[in-house]
Amino acid sequence: MSEETANGKGPLGVEGPSPAEAMEQMLEVYPKKTKRKRGKQMLLNDPQTPKEIGANSRTVPGIITQRGCSYAGCKGVVIGPIYDILHITHGPIGCGWYSWLSRRNMTKIRAEGETNYLQYSMSTDMQEEQIVFGGEKKLKEAIREAYEEFKPKAISVYATCPVGLIGDDIHSVCRDMKKELGINIFGFSCEGYKGVSQSAGHHIANNGVFKNMIGLDDTPVEAKYKINILGEYNIGGDAWEIDRILRLCGIHIIGTLSGGVSYDEICNCHMADLNVVMCHRSINYMAEMMETKFGIPWFKVNFIGLEGTKKSLRKIAQYFGEKELIDRVEEVIAAEMAEVRPVVQDVRKRTEGKTAALFVGGSRAHHYQDLFQDMGMKVISAGYEFAHRDDYEGRDVLPHIKVDADTRNIEELEVEQDTERFNLRNTVERKKSLEDSGFDFSDYEGMMRQMAKDTLVIDDISHHEMEKLIELYHPDIIGSGIKDKYVIEKMGVPCKQLHSYDYGGPYAGFKGAINFFKEVDRMTSTKVWKLVRAPWHEDASGEASADAELANASV
Ligand code: SF4
Repeated sequence: MSEETANGKGPLGVEGPSPAEAMEQMLEVYPKKTKRKRGKQMLLNDPQTPKEIGANSRTVPGIITQRGCSYAGCKGVVIGPIYDILHITHGPIGCGWYSWLSRRNMTKIRAEGETNYLQYSMSTDMQEEQIVFGGEKKLKEAIREAYEEFKPKAISVYATCPVGLIGDDIHSVCRDMKKELGINIFGFSCEGYKGVSQSAGHHIANNGVFKNMIGLDDTPVEAKYKINILGEYNIGGDAWEIDRILRLCGIHIIGTLSGGVSYDEICNCHMADLNVVMCHRSINYMAEMMETKFGIPWFKVNFIGLEGTKKSLRKIAQYFGEKELIDRVEEVIAAEMAEVRPVVQDVRKRTEGKTAALFVGGSRAHHYQDLFQDMGMKVISAGYEFAHRDDYEGRDVLPHIKVDADTRNIEELEVEQDTERFNLRNTVERKKSLEDSGFDFSDYEGMMRQMAKDTLVIDDISHHEMEKLIELYHPDIIGSGIKDKYVIEKMGVPCKQLHSYDYGGPYAGFKGAINFFKEVDRMTSTKVWKLVRAPWHEDASGEASADAELANASV
């Protein structure tokens, strides 16, 4: 038991019940079966020996989850940001409509003659007739019409829930249309009911990108240090900030999968000498497959937070091992930090010791802990919507993860070494000497090793559990998404959207950190949260509340 818990306090010594009691209180309202299931998806953290968490399992019906579907993970997250592919949703209008420009993966056209199709939402708009007689004919017409109108380089097709149920074969339609139109056309069987969350869609997307795009263009890239960033989706311009820093260091990015990326860049990105992985959950499959087929090594980085960014830059420099790069990286860090340092010093005066709880997708609940640490804030609780055990506990648990019935139907590609293009980027000796010096390739230690002892880890948090957490500990800020934001704020706690960035950003890299620090400082320091209760309400003690005083004060 940690010192804080022994003192009868909440996680990290905050006011409130012990974390074990908090868990008990969250679970007590549930029926027996739900209680048992949710109990497996919550734990008190032990960073030394992370415990097994029940993750990537089916959502309890009716619990008000934050989760989305496989179509969202495939089209919405991984492939959707590729700006010059024309994306067609095959299904009724809802799926394409709700995912139209609602994810802020930013894009700008970089070459003359390119088109950005992301401003559009293309759908086959299935009607009753297609459900009864099949939708393949309408899909073919839609592809033809889209091609006539836009003449794109490639078209991708996404299956939604009814498509799998009525048996439309989108892949044979795509093959036929590819022959007819002479451009690359491919489909994704990412029906919303596959798997248990967005995660299945990521896997399906990785497989499709690997089969239909990676390796199509062998044009050599003239650059000394060339890498790909995998799992970076350019929300609020994050990828552009990472690109700016890497350019200053002299490192060239061939492809960022898939924020702000073009079709051609993806086809050519197997020419890189290194893959660095930001979002492990959504793209680790691709990193593994590219290593097997082309010999490109990968390692995990995190460009969110000052320490994370510095560590990641140094790791890339160490990988290439050339003095000029190692020195250049240090110069860039020193110059950038000169700008960041005064902001951190100023902000910390107000943020030091404040508390945060983070419930976001499959990587940010971990990545953003670095930024909060930079501000001297404590993360008392965190969890993912759809991450797997390896994202919580580290990749060494991979051999022990049981594939359950909900995930078994997601295809695992059999990838082999490319007989002509496989090229070990490092000699075996060099790789070994890097590993001996503590360098970890193909690894991710997971979120729980970075969290303090006895903090609360909650997978697939429900609406009720979120409310209870606020009631018990009243964190100074919660990082979450749009579905929770206004519920949380109505309870008097600021909610920072860590999916959309509340329409701001970037938050990656050094300039991004400055944006984030200022934003969190503003949100947690404003007096508006003290005015949530009406002034005539009194404290339980019977004394006039601080709210009343504040109501009379100027804000
Ligand atoms: S669950 Fe089905 S219907 Fe809903 S958005 Fe996903 S694919 Fe569309």
